[in-house]
Amino acid sequence: MSETVYDVVIIGGGPAGLTAGLYCSRARLNTLLIEKMILGGQVMITTDVENYPGFPGGITGPELMERFQTHCQEFGLQVTTGEVSTIVDEGKIKRIKTVDGDLLARAVIIATGASPRKLGIPGEKEMIGRGVSYCATCDGAFYRNVPVAINGGGDTAVEEAMFLSRFASKVYLIHRRDQLRAVEVLQERLKANDKIEVLWNKTVQEAHGDNTGLTHLTLEDTQSGEQSTLETTGLFVAIGVTPITHFLEGVVDLNDDGYVITDTQCQTSVEGIYAAGDVRSGVLKQIATAVGDGATAAWVVEKFLSENN
Ligand code: NAP
Repeated sequence: MSETVYDVVIIGGGPAGLTAGLYCSRARLNTLLIEKMILGGQVMITTDVENYPGFPGGITGPELMERFQTHCQEFGLQVTTGEVSTIVDEGKIKRIKTVDGDLLARAVIIATGASPRKLGIPGEKEMIGRGVSYCATCDGAFYRNVPVAINGGGDTAVEEAMFLSRFASKVYLIHRRDQLRAVEVLQERLKANDKIEVLWNKTVQEAHGDNTGLTHLTLEDTQSGEQSTLETTGLFVAIGVTPITHFLEGVVDLNDDGYVITDTQCQTSVEGIYAAGDVRSGVLKQIATAVGDGATAAWVVEKFLSENN
């Protein structure tokens, strides 16, 4: 029996991957999307999405991704679950290796996105699931009427701090500088929320716990070097993201931070392999830009396949 050669295999099912899937399926390309966990990507752990056009008043992350999936189904996108270990460029065919066997395709779109960055401090790893979390939307409700801490100063940290304030008795936002990176509209809301206290110029040095879980944090003042203790049973880490590209080492060119280098048309260093969304270097990390990338990559793939029959 001959092995199926897909026109295109899309790796990753967040907004970029699903949009590429929608466009490729609608263009009648034999398209398979492979996703490691659940469709929707990082948006699935976002409480409210209020800057994706067409949804005045906002929409929850999971609801928006449900709509993306339904839309893809309308055009018959094929989806499978699996983890890609590498891609082998065999010229006109790309061999996508997974633990469950190989997939073959004439073109590949990498849309694996990014995952939350770790602090790398003592105690962090040991306390994951026992007080240390990377997702307030997932774990915030466990912290009813107790104080919690969140580390970071970007949009994610501020949004999550506000989400946590719905449950916690108090939220400490720990930031390493005296100015937030988050957009102004979020900063205004943060200031108006009297349950949130910002601990400026502080880093988390160590997470301490006992057999009940996290008990307290050691903080350090970035100006004076002075150390202090913050008692809390919950630490949410929101210090940015790292691209999911470990399986691409030696496959396509990556920049120093591990993002896939492409041209403006999502073309990587290898012909027939494209990258879209948060995994791609130098692009704004938003659902709207991921969607634009997914559409661009699909259009470029369609053109590439028709020229390389
Ligand atoms: P981010 O914008 O990269 O911010 C990361 C924050 O963590 C920064 O404040 C940074 O401090 C701090 N940080 C980084 N490494 C640290 C460390 N080792 N120790 C302590 N603090 C550290 O990440 P993000 O907030 O996750 O956002 C990622 C992208 O998604 C951004 O482009 C953001 O705009 C986007 N996003 C958008 C929305 C939205 O539009 N609604 C929501 C969420 C995320 P410094 O400021 O000092 O560098």
